[in-house]
Amino acid sequence: MRRVSVFGATGSIGVNTLDLLTRQGGAEAYQVVALTGGRNVDLLASQARSLRAEIAVTAHEDCLPALRAALHGSGIEAAAGAGALVEAAERPADWVMSAIVGAAGLAPGFAALKHGTTLALANKESLVTAGPLLLAEAARHGARILPVDSEHSAVFQALVGEEISAVERVIITASGGAFRDWPLERLARATVAEASTHPNWAMGQRITIDSASMFNKALEVIETKEYFQIAPEKIEVLVHPESLVHALVGFADGALMAHLGAPDMRHAIGYALNWPARRDLPVARLDLAAIGALTFRAPDLTRFPALALAREVMAIGGTAGAAFNAAKEAALDAFIAGQIGFLDMARGVESVLSEMSARQGLGNVAISLDNVMATDAEARARLHQSISSGK
Ligand code: NDP
Ligand code: MG
Repeated sequence: MRRVSVFGATGSIGVNTLDLLTRQGGAEAYQVVALTGGRNVDLLASQARSLRAEIAVTAHEDCLPALRAALHGSGIEAAAGAGALVEAAERPADWVMSAIVGAAGLAPGFAALKHGTTLALANKESLVTAGPLLLAEAARHGARILPVDSEHSAVFQALVGEEISAVERVIITASGGAFRDWPLERLARATVAEASTHPNWAMGQRITIDSASMFNKALEVIETKEYFQIAPEKIEVLVHPESLVHALVGFADGALMAHLGAPDMRHAIGYALNWPARRDLPVARLDLAAIGALTFRAPDLTRFPALALAREVMAIGGTAGAAFNAAKEAALDAFIAGQIGFLDMARGVESVLSEMSARQGLGNVAISLDNVMATDAEARARLHQSISSGK
């Protein structure tokens, strides 16, 4: 039986992953090794029971008693904390879903590569902060990383049977998020509730707000560079409000291969789960005659400065991705907590990035796990400082 683990099982991607595992036979078809979550221990325990997992891990030590209680009598092990997540990742599995949100997903995903697993990577932050490290670790252990982000899964699928050297450009689409058509003055006053709704996709709150600010697309541009080893100037972003074309790959002969599908993450998750085979998936089939038209436009860099910041990060290199992501996470925390406004997120990230690249020359810092974590911690601290000093 195929051994599988799901990191971030209680989140939006995690729940969709478990839905597919269950539809494809559940505990009869898969040996479920580890399931992990955060504060939602009741859901985690019920998932672990229904898929007969070996171990359930919560990221938070203070949640362990509740997890233990919820698993009582099941024979399923319970553990807690960042170290326990890494230990769970070190348990051999054939397929591991990396769907923890944020930089916290890096260490478990990295650890899972050591036993040559297939890592289905939803946690784009891993590639943004430590792409070269992750790819080298995968190569060293004969592990494989499959993209789960819908745009990257689309690019991956468009590249099947193609030579990467024949790729002229990669276009990832953006719905434009909740504020696609909002003018700058209105963006300045956008609330957390307004930013937490997405026109097309149902996702976790953090990525939904990142979609509204286009920080999500900024991370995805860097993710494209890292995963496919494509030069930054070949990567384009195209606003496509319908979210039906997920990406396009342009080749040397001028051909463009587009990937279309309903905006349902179970497509990309299922592709990574069943790869290289394709299996029937419970996603809507597109009726293009009924849809009628697909529209595209260039992104507005004035209203969405995050996209330009991604270009800067790629130009700097080194641990700039770690600084960018961490500053973004801290700015997002502050926005959610009501400490800063919507547009202050990009302003704060930009100032942390320019301070840190001027002082430490981020581009020259070698990408090791330690350096990435140190850069991450410093970027968060600087972002917090800039808020408390009212900059
Ligand atoms: P959610 O917020 O819905 O879920 C996040 C998961 O991570 C939950 O299981 C949560 O636990 C857990 N978690 C939260 N904080 C920590 C922590 N510090 N340490 C360990 N675990 C933690 O996120 P999504 O499912 O939306 O996103 C997951 C990842 O997938 C992100 O990297 C995102 O960018 C990426 N992604 C998501 C897409 C989507 O459609 N949602 C699309 C493409 C990529 P709990 O809830 O129990 O507290
Ligand atoms: Mg995406």
